[in-house]
Amino acid sequence: MQVKCVLCDHIEGLDDHSLRAKRLRNRRNQMYLCEKCYKRIDYKTKQRQATGHFHLYKKKKKEDDHYF
Ligand SMILES: [Zn+2]
Repeated sequence: MQVKCVLCDHIEGLDDHSLRAKRLRNRRNQMYLCEKCYKRIDYKTKQRQATGHFHLYKKKKKEDDHYF
């Protein structure tokens, strides 16, 4: 089967019997990312996780304000 990367429109051929192809067929709304884009997203996600405590702090502060 052929799959198109949702980010860069790069078309890749997947072995119909591969685990990835089966997963894509089972979950039709799952977006396909080519390896290049996947690594880019993965990197961004890790960066976001690294600064995650900052967002948690902001959220907590907002909740505290609610009691005043
Ligand atoms: Zn891509």
